[in-house]
Amino acid sequence: MSQANVSPAFAQVRTRIAPSPTGFLHLGTARTALYSWAYARHHGGEFVLRIEDTDVARSTQDSVDQILASMHWLGLGYDEGPVYQMQRLARYHEVAQRLIADGQAYYCYCTPEELEAMREAQRARGEKTRYDGRWRPEPGKVLPPVPAGVKPVVRFKNPLDGDVSWEDLVKGRITINNREIDDLIIMRPADAEAGLDALGVPTYNFAVVVDDWDMRISHVFRGDEHINNTPWQINIFRALGAPLPAFGHIPVILGEDGLKLSKRRGAVSVTAYEENGYLPEAMLNYLARLGWSHGDDELFTREQMVSWFDGSHISKSPAQWDAAKLEWVNAQYIKQAADDRLAALVAAQLARRGLPAPQRLEALCALFKDRCSTTAVLADWLTMYVADVQPSAEDLAAHLSDAVKPALAALADALEGASWDKAGISAAIKSVITAHGLKMPQLAIPVRVLVCGRTQTPSVDAVLALFDKEIVIKRLRSV
Ligand code: GLU
Repeated sequence: MSQANVSPAFAQVRTRIAPSPTGFLHLGTARTALYSWAYARHHGGEFVLRIEDTDVARSTQDSVDQILASMHWLGLGYDEGPVYQMQRLARYHEVAQRLIADGQAYYCYCTPEELEAMREAQRARGEKTRYDGRWRPEPGKVLPPVPAGVKPVVRFKNPLDGDVSWEDLVKGRITINNREIDDLIIMRPADAEAGLDALGVPTYNFAVVVDDWDMRISHVFRGDEHINNTPWQINIFRALGAPLPAFGHIPVILGEDGLKLSKRRGAVSVTAYEENGYLPEAMLNYLARLGWSHGDDELFTREQMVSWFDGSHISKSPAQWDAAKLEWVNAQYIKQAADDRLAALVAAQLARRGLPAPQRLEALCALFKDRCSTTAVLADWLTMYVADVQPSAEDLAAHLSDAVKPALAALADALEGASWDKAGISAAIKSVITAHGLKMPQLAIPVRVLVCGRTQTPSVDAVLALFDKEIVIKRLRSV
C-alpha cells in the first residue's frame, strides 16, 4: 500500500463511480470504475456507487439493473450504495437554499426565448455565448421586475475573475480563468412541481458537488469529457466551504478507426462482452491495461492490479480499443479457467442458441479450451456434439475420395467392436490405416470432415471418444 495524495481534510481515500442510468454500463465507465475501485482498494479506502438519475426523462430502471449487473459481473464491489440522486432531492434543495441565503446563488427568471435572444445578440457581435448575468445580484444593482408565471432556475454566482486551478492526477496542472465560465444553472424547476418556490431538480454540476462532499469523496476519477465542468465544481466546493477532492480526468477510449468508441462502431456495453463469451477477469485485465501500464506486464490478476494501482502511469492520451488484443487476453484466461466453470458458461451459450449441453461437457471444455478465444467459440466447437454437422461441399470433394471410402467403412466396422475410449479408438484407427496402406492424415481428415464437419480438430481419437459411439458410426457411414 502506498501513500495516497490525500488532503488532510479527508480521513481516508474514498472514490466513487457515478453512472447515469440512461443506457448500459459503457466500457469507458467500466474502466473508470475499475480505476476508482483499484485506487480505493490500493489505499485501503472505500469505493461508492452512485446512480446519477436526475435526467428523469432518460433514466430507466432497466439501465440501473444493467449497471448493477455489470458491476457485479466485473466483481467491482462497492462499500456504499447504490445511492440514488433522486432520493436526495431534499438535500440539494437545502444546499441550494443555503447558497441563495449566503448570496452565492440566485434566482434567474430568464425565459428560454430571452436566453436565445441573448445568445443571438452575442453571436451577432462575434462574442462567445454565455449568460450575461442580468439576474445576478450585485451591490447597488437594480434587478428586473420578477415576471409573473415564470418558474425561475437557480444560478451559481461564479467568481467574475481569478483563476481556477488544480493539479489533475492524470493531466497535470490545469488552469481556467473565471472569465471563461458563466453563472451556471444549479437547479431547474421540474414540470411536476407547482409554485415558484419549488426548486425542482439539481443539474449535474451541482448534484455531483453536493454528493461528493456529503460522501466524503477524496479522489474523483472520471472521463476527460468532464474537464470543462471541473472549474465550476471547484468554485461550488469553495462556496460551500467543502474540502476539495483530488481530480483525475481519464482520456477517452477511441475505436479502432481512431474515432470515439461508440455504439455505431461495435459493442460498447459490458453486457455485450459477457454475452459474447468474455470472462470478467479478462475484461478487467484488458480494461486496466487500456490507458494504464505497469511496466511491460500484460497479464495480471486483480490482486496484482490493486497492489500496483497508485494512480500513476495513467496515460494522458486516448487509448485505442484493440479487439484482437482483448481476444488474446481472453484466450489466455480461458486456457487457465477451470473446466467446470467453462462448462456452465458454454452450456449457457448453447442454451441461447436453443441447443442442449452435450454429455461429458467438462472433458470437452478441457479438450477444446486451448483453441478458443471466447466461450462462444467454445460453443461453436461443441455444437457438433449436440447437432447434426453439414460438411461443406468443398471439404467433401477434397477429402472424401473413392479410394478412402472403403477405409471409412472399415473404420466404422472396427469401431463397432472397439472399447469406447481414446486408446480403443486409436487402436481401431491404426488397424485401418495399416490394412489400407494409408497415412494418418489420409484417414483422419475425412473422419473429421464427416464426424465434425471440419478438417482440423484436436487429436482425432480424443475428439471421437467424447461422442456417443452410435453418432460417430452413423456419420462415418453417411457416405
Ligand atoms: N454521471 C456522470 C457521467 O456518467 C458522472 C461524471 C462524474 O463522475 O462526475 O458521466
